[in-house]
Amino acid sequence: MSKLAGAFPLNWIDQLERSALVAQDSGDIPISAVCIDTLTGGYAVCSNRVEKISSSLAHAECLALSEMQNKLGTRFLTDCILVSTLEPCTMCMGAAAQARVAGVLYFLSDEKGGYFSHHRILVSDKVPMRHMLGTHTCWVRKVVGIEERFLNLLQVFFQSLRE
Ligand SMILES: [Zn+2]
Repeated sequence: MSKLAGAFPLNWIDQLERSALVAQDSGDIPISAVCIDTLTGGYAVCSNRVEKISSSLAHAECLALSEMQNKLGTRFLTDCILVSTLEPCTMCMGAAAQARVAGVLYFLSDEKGGYFSHHRILVSDKVPMRHMLGTHTCWVRKVVGIEERFLNLLQVFFQSLRE
């Protein structure tokens, strides 16, 4: 198990917030994700771009995985972790499993659209991806203590849509 499991590198929070605000500026739900290579420290941080590029595939997590695969020149991200401000959906967890990421961290639970919440899968050190990909397992953690900040971003965004 990676040494990063359960302990989110706090220096990422500001950057993820900035990236989420970039999404918001283009009319997208303020969600962002970063894929971090735990061996080299290399990373790819992306914001949700579903509306901006009119693609349902453009969730922040998928974009971060794809960018990291391009950077490393391989589709296997076995030394990488995926960090998202919102619990990843089924599509993004499928992409993470396909990429064989070592671990996943998220800040906010998504009771409706989150993969783990929706399928009632308990997050742990060894979450089986059997819905996605045979025998692959990865550790999954919900980071506690910083939910407020990203929940607030979402609440402000949805409030602005209603006004
Ligand atoms: Zn997603």
